[in-house]
Amino acid sequence: MSDKSAKIFVAGHRGLVGSAIVRKLHQLGSTNPLLRTHAELDLTRQADVESFFAQEKPVHVILAAAKVGGIHANNTYPADFIAVNLQIQTNVIHSAYLHGVKKLLFLGSSCIYPKFAPQPIPESALLTGPLEPTNEWYAIAKIAGIKTCQAYRIQYKWDAISGMPTNLYGPNDNFHPQNSHVLPALMRRFHEAKVSGAEEVVVWGSGSPLREFLHVDDLADACVFLLERYSGLEHVNIGSGQEVTIKELAELVKEVVGFEGKLGWDSTKPDGTPRKLMDSSKLAALGWTPKVSLRDGLRQTYEWYLENVCAAS
Ligand code: GDP
Repeated sequence: MSDKSAKIFVAGHRGLVGSAIVRKLHQLGSTNPLLRTHAELDLTRQADVESFFAQEKPVHVILAAAKVGGIHANNTYPADFIAVNLQIQTNVIHSAYLHGVKKLLFLGSSCIYPKFAPQPIPESALLTGPLEPTNEWYAIAKIAGIKTCQAYRIQYKWDAISGMPTNLYGPNDNFHPQNSHVLPALMRRFHEAKVSGAEEVVVWGSGSPLREFLHVDDLADACVFLLERYSGLEHVNIGSGQEVTIKELAELVKEVVGFEGKLGWDSTKPDGTPRKLMDSSKLAALGWTPKVSLRDGLRQTYEWYLENVCAAS
């Protein structure tokens, strides 16, 4: 980072992504991250967000605050997923523009792409087909965020960029049994089965969908990289290229956790999109590569889970 004292507002700093970005900024010697908890600043309240920006005048913004969740949560709370995300991003982007922020990085997700997008999915696949219905509410909000950044770039010549991470995991993930994403959900289920001596762990769906996983520390590194080196209209995919089936993932998590029982499958639960692999060649061409392997990342995340989630409960 060139200016270590520049004020950087990390919106959503307690979440999986935001907390990794703050760790990265500290590692790089940043002395001025600007942080607000949800209780201190509700990003869905436009007037509060505007007065926060007017008062604090950050130089950079990384927008990692969002209402997120797995396939079940998206299906159950569609109104929250669309409305809360639209409110947060519109308030933050507009206030940042109004109050002189130099550069803003908006973060979305791979679910912005059509259900049957070509694989690996290039950035150009955006808006070329229907979305996966299980998360279209969240996806529509995130697509609107990309377009908002583009519109502000075009109309105001303002440096707003967007990064689209693939499926993420790591410390500070949500380990809720129903509402979390697959990786933390399985980690918790295997752990609890190991502790209770259960014979079987049930995994949702058929096990055949393919997913790509990126450790959140790699994402944080990519975010700082993009903030420093990218200023373009098009969003940028941020993936690892490490793709596994849900069955392979379940076996890997089982091994890392040390559960010795059987795997069962609940076919009444949805599979979601069949494959979701990002084409991250644009980011690679800019000069960025991921560093954390899935196996190492799972081990590190399980250690974090044991120390922070289990020890705390
Ligand atoms: P997605 O990547 O947006 O589809 O979100 P998820 O991480 O929630 O789900 C990914 C895949 O994992 C889907 O095919 C799910 O059916 C499957 N899966 C298997 N077990 C679980 C589980 O316990 N929780 C979740 N969320 N997904 C699971």
